[in-house]
Amino acid sequence: METMQVQTHHREELLDITGKVRSIINDNGWSDGALLLYCPHTTGAITINEGADPDVMRDITVNMNKLVPHQGDYRHAEGNSDAHIKSSMFGCDQLVIVEGGNLQLGTWQKIYFCEFDGPRTRKVWLKWLSS
Ligand code: ZN
Repeated sequence: METMQVQTHHREELLDITGKVRSIINDNGWSDGALLLYCPHTTGAITINEGADPDVMRDITVNMNKLVPHQGDYRHAEGNSDAHIKSSMFGCDQLVIVEGGNLQLGTWQKIYFCEFDGPRTRKVWLKWLSS
């Protein structure tokens, strides 16, 4: 298993980690298989979405905050229930295909680490799966 460190800079942020994932694939010589990306944090997540227009990430963040606001009917004493809810909504993992050493993503797709209670130093675990 490999571990990637990620530094976020805002309370909520969708950080493009596609380049880092590609570097780890290349550094390990992984060719044909699948790569499991796993976020071991309860207020973070991993998602795949459009990477061409940064306004898409802005729109996701702004509208997630309308769906699940920071302040609300929460009991969790830590005060970050919205972040826990968003983490569960997005999910803590993604499985991506690697063919011939190339990450297989759609033309407009990028892989994002989702921060919902930052800024923090975070980890992403990467597990290579091959047949
Ligand atoms: Zn909490």
